[in-house]
Amino acid sequence: MINLETPKKHRQLIDQAHQVAMNMLRPISRKYDQAEHSYPKELDMLAAMIDGLADSGASEGAGATGVRRDDKADEKGVKNGANLASVQSVAEMCWGDTGLTLAMPRQGLGNSAIASVANDEQLKRFEGTWASMAITEPSMGSDSAALTTTAVKDGDEYVLNGEKIFVTAGDRSDSVVVWATLDKSLGRAAIKSFVVTKGTPGLKVERLEHKLGIRASDTAVITFTDCRVPAENLLGSPDIDVKQGFAGAMATFDNTRPLVAAMAVGCARAALDLTRGLLEEAGVVIDYDRPAQVQSAAAAKFLQLESDWEGGRLLTLQAAWMADNRQPNSLEASMAKAKAGRVGSDVTLSCVELAASVGYSETELLEKWARDSKILDIFEGTQQIQQLIVARRVLGLSSAELK
Ligand SMILES: Cc1cc2nc3c(=O)[nH]c(=O)nc-3n(C[C@H](O)[C@H](O)[C@H](O)COP(=O)(O)OP(=O)(O)OC[C@H]3O[C@@H](n4cnc5c(N)ncnc54)[C@H](O)[C@@H]3O)c2cc1C
Repeated sequence: MINLETPKKHRQLIDQAHQVAMNMLRPISRKYDQAEHSYPKELDMLAAMIDGLADSGASEGAGATGVRRDDKADEKGVKNGANLASVQSVAEMCWGDTGLTLAMPRQGLGNSAIASVANDEQLKRFEGTWASMAITEPSMGSDSAALTTTAVKDGDEYVLNGEKIFVTAGDRSDSVVVWATLDKSLGRAAIKSFVVTKGTPGLKVERLEHKLGIRASDTAVITFTDCRVPAENLLGSPDIDVKQGFAGAMATFDNTRPLVAAMAVGCARAALDLTRGLLEEAGVVIDYDRPAQVQSAAAAKFLQLESDWEGGRLLTLQAAWMADNRQPNSLEASMAKAKAGRVGSDVTLSCVELAASVGYSETELLEKWARDSKILDIFEGTQQIQQLIVARRVLGLSSAELK
């Protein structure tokens, strides 16, 4: 049975992530929000620390790379493993700064994709790489099945051609996990992901985007022109299984969506913590033992935001816990992303509202968190797409039946 208390064995890791967020990310948060596209060099030392923890085995699940499904369940058959630890430590890091967390070396969404789909040999070969994830194209965003980037087998290589946009960490990463089709006429089943190492001829970072939020994280346009990739860099099986359809590539999302939900949980928690302090300084009393309707409007609003936040957090923990216990979690991953993504935006913007002029000014980070959190309701599947997936699963309808 699921126990939603923070497991004892994860407490030290979560505390460490919180300390790092408070002492290393927060102090440079505004600096890299203002200096968009400059490299946060302070993160190199931090990433080395995380690598050290991972090597020593002291940090199962520190960062995005901890996500894997095939660890053994413990004797009792129920475990709190790498996925649960990952979402909790990622939430803590985003309490510090979401953009900087997304810019952390070797902790890219592509790393999570590799952990989800790679075989053991590939996992070993790509260990230590910093991988971004490239799905979106100029003609396609939400509808991943409509991608046009092609991968054509030629001897023991695949030749990739296409353009990917909005690739998070696309400039700074060492490799890019690229989604491409082996045969457009075979539909979703022919979509596979490939690890393309930077420096491969034909891969070109064209430009960087200027953005509303997460400005510490670089977002790149990357083109692939007759880009030759070793055949063994195709993640998972090269076979086109029309019955399995999109399931192989989509399995990535079952692990990355809870992570993005956790980012929203962490960012929103930061806003709640600061707002509570500001309200208390202003003389607002928030009383958890009295009904909201008999308290001041500001206190009642704050209580409502916190309960909404708790809903997002619990769904996120549930989705990660199910992954740890090898239970299918596509429905719960989308529910967590939908709830936490929306709550993240609502909470951070409402905190700006509650703090009014202080919330809107750059003297505090509230306005930044409101900007940062919006992306968490967009990438890895928008709010509307998560709701569509949930509806399909609950109603038992296919993507063709409910569009
Ligand atoms: C900062 C940033 C970082 C990103 N990082 C990455 C990355 O690392 N890798 C990557 O591959 N992509 C990345 N993306 C792209 C992101 O995943 C897409 O923006 C997202 O999937 C939406 O696609 P779109 O922008 O083309 O919007 P569209 O798909 O055109 O959607 C526009 C609107 O229509 C709604 N909509 C679409 N279809 C439906 C439907 N069937 N029913 C109801 N509503 C619908 C959407 O919810 C949205 O509100 C990033 C984007 C940003 C802004």
